[in-house]
Amino acid sequence: MYDLAIIGGGPAGLAAGLYAARSNLKTIIIEKGLPGGQLQNTLDIENYPGFKHILGPDLASHMHQQTMELGVEWKTGEVTGVKLEGQPKTLCVGSEEIQAKAVIIASGALPKYLEVPGEAEFRGRGVSYCATCDGAFFRGKQVFVVGGGDSAVEEGMFLTQYADTVTVLVRRDTLKAQQYLQDRAFRNPKVKFVWNTVVEEILGDSKVTGVRVRNIVDGTTAVLEGDGVFIYIGFYPNSAFLQDTGILNELGYVITDAKMATAIAGVFAAGDVRDTPMRQIVTASSDGAVAAMSAFQYLASL
Ligand code: NAP
Repeated sequence: MYDLAIIGGGPAGLAAGLYAARSNLKTIIIEKGLPGGQLQNTLDIENYPGFKHILGPDLASHMHQQTMELGVEWKTGEVTGVKLEGQPKTLCVGSEEIQAKAVIIASGALPKYLEVPGEAEFRGRGVSYCATCDGAFFRGKQVFVVGGGDSAVEEGMFLTQYADTVTVLVRRDTLKAQQYLQDRAFRNPKVKFVWNTVVEEILGDSKVTGVRVRNIVDGTTAVLEGDGVFIYIGFYPNSAFLQDTGILNELGYVITDAKMATAIAGVFAAGDVRDTPMRQIVTASSDGAVAAMSAFQYLASL
């Protein structure tokens, strides 16, 4: 029996583990992949305080080592089912059941992939899913944004502070984004739209040099030159195992209050899986710290 089980070993889960261990909680982190989660797929990080530049896998390794040295247990496995009401809480990991008095859900979210040739090859070398993380690498360059929702338009405008032109490739002839975002984007001279257009291939040599696109109305194809491709076609929260818990919003993100508490006593959430306005390493880490302190207070009240 653990005091605290943390689902997910990215920045949110590792920070939660760090704070929990420093509060003397017997803690386990369950992670299906490598320590650090999405950090493992992130090349250059220049917006995590304390590091002017660090590689994602290096930051993951520092965070993991710091937390493990405090005695947190690490388990590789996927949580496929949960019983969260009452005491104790039970997590199903394969055929095993893990019991804890409190749970922090830090299972993250993943960007949807375009799944076209070149996308995987140039990930981190011009293909990005995070303008806040990577925008500054495209100062004075030409970038593409793929998508037509709020994220594509908002992040496209964010990119104009760095890039010379931001060309938004939209597969329909209208945007799905909220009207006020559309109005702002249409007024921005650096933002251009190419309608009815899908990306068929991301082109490059050692890094991205352009995209091959197809017009879905007339079937014509073209090669557009550019230095970066920011893909914003939606996200998947890793929350399928929470389907019947009643703590998810309509998009599958976990609803919490400011103390990271869900509607179920003793269950908290942190990081990208949470219904939150910002999904960054620093916000995930900070969520993890708050969630661990809230779990500590909950355990003290039992
Ligand atoms: P989204 O609303 O699901 O929009 C995804 C966009 O990508 C749509 O335009 C979609 O086109 C397009 N798309 C999907 N698959 C594609 C493909 N294979 N190729 C080309 N285009 C493709 O996702 P989101 O923009 O990330 O937003 C997610 C949620 O967060 C939304 O509820 C949004 O309102 C919210 N959000 C809000 C704010 C804000 O309030 N400021 C900011 C960001 C996000 P179709 O329309 O043709 O399907």
